[in-house]
Amino acid sequence: MLNIIIFGAPGSGKGTQSENLIEKYGLEHISTGDVLRDEIKQGTELGKTAAQYIEKGQLVPDELIINILASVFDSKKSAKGVIFDGFPRTIPQAQALKMMLAERDTQIDAVIALEVDDKELIERLLNRGKVSGRSDDNLETIQNRLQVYHSQTAPLIEYYKTEGLYSPVKGTGSIDDIFARIKKVIATL
Ligand code: AMP
Repeated sequence: MLNIIIFGAPGSGKGTQSENLIEKYGLEHISTGDVLRDEIKQGTELGKTAAQYIEKGQLVPDELIINILASVFDSKKSAKGVIFDGFPRTIPQAQALKMMLAERDTQIDAVIALEVDDKELIERLLNRGKVSGRSDDNLETIQNRLQVYHSQTAPLIEYYKTEGLYSPVKGTGSIDDIFARIKKVIATL
């Protein structure tokens, strides 16, 4: 299996580049944001709880995400592999992911990190907000999400460097140029 984490701040292009990866390498996509938005749409208990956090730009508690992760993975896993998009976002989530994959005799092969500065992230997310209809693509929530990224998610950079998995990629320029950089990383695996 080729299991990849596509890592980066909100608005760094994880979703867009996931689409390219799926098409090129035949991988399955696990976006925890999409999973949660789907739960909200269906009006489930998990969705109701998650909505309160998402609207504020906060992270949903680790145990809620970790509890659903294994079943989402088991429903999506293919022989080729999986792209994790928007997960993990905290150290406990990364530890849980490692354990969950080890129990299935597999592992993360690379963490591809899209690097974009905050000013550009805010511009991109405000633009996306005009068309996405997402409740969290407004300036106040965007600022919270970036703060949460820097305080809770960015520590994963050191974690994955220590694991020898961290591959930074410049996340600016055209979508095709960025994907070309990602393909170069994958070619080294
Ligand atoms: P995303 O679509 O990845 O930008 O996620 C949107 C929102 O869903 C985030 O701001 C969080 O509130 C929540 N969320 C998504 N993935 C996670 C995760 N792995 N851990 C905690 N909260 C998450």
